Amino acid sequence: MSDSEDTLDDLFAHNRAWAAQMERDRPGFFTGLVKQQTPRYMWIGCSDSRVPANQITGLEPGEVFVHRNVANIVVHSDLNALSAIQFAVEHLKVEHIMVVGHYGCAGVKAALNGTRIGLADNWIRHIQDVRDRHGVMIDSLPEPVRVDALCELNVAEQVVNVAVSTVMVDAWSRGQKVRIHGWCYGVHDGLLQDLRLSVDGSKPLDAIYKAAVQRIRHKWSKPGEPLVITPRPRAEAAVQAPPPAPTSQPTLEAPAAFGTADHVSPAP
Ligand SMILES: [Zn+2]
Repeated sequence: MSDSEDTLDDLFAHNRAWAAQMERDRPGFFTGLVKQQTPRYMWIGCSDSRVPANQITGLEPGEVFVHRNVANIVVHSDLNALSAIQFAVEHLKVEHIMVVGHYGCAGVKAALNGTRIGLADNWIRHIQDVRDRHGVMIDSLPEPVRVDALCELNVAEQVVNVAVSTVMVDAWSRGQKVRIHGWCYGVHDGLLQDLRLSVDGSKPLDAIYKAAVQRIRHKWSKPGEPLVITPRPRAEAAVQAPPPAPTSQPTLEAPAAFGTADHVSPAP
């Protein structure tokens, strides 16, 4: 028997032991799951083996609906991701969608450095778009922190992509209560960081996005220093504020493609 077959046998052995232990601890656990899954959460994360949604959050089978791909990207035309989001929102009625990146993400690193890795180059091209959009900021940061800053910027970008999807626009138009969050996970310490990028369709998306980008820039350029912004209002105030008047002043931070508040606010 080869080593690889030994390994697979181990997986089945562990599975049998786990199922038996679960049934001993909580009789009827599996038969209860057969009837229905009622997760409150949807997790959109990286495929990276070090970032398992259930274990990180202490959630059991049936408690989190998961979609993962390389570098946690949500592309407007990706029927796989969109179908998962639609099922989660419209059928499972999840209350929270977490877009979860992780520090040191290999996909983000390849995108940042322009490393060719094969077919996936076309997939992570989406992250290179994020990199290019924030190029001035990224170039201004110390080289060692650029990957992790881009990991967070990528999360912010993908939160927006979820928020402007037809699934979310329709859900909020119906008055459905579902929030999108942006998190980043530390493979090095096992801790989740909340990027305070929560979107529920009631506040201007572009203001939330810009405030998040501002925090990310501050965090990585001035680590440890409190975020004080003058003469403009504090970032938190900006999130609460009504949509700003259109301005002709160009901004490198604002993605030209994502929707405005009008697209994501629920119908009055
Ligand atoms: Zn990754």
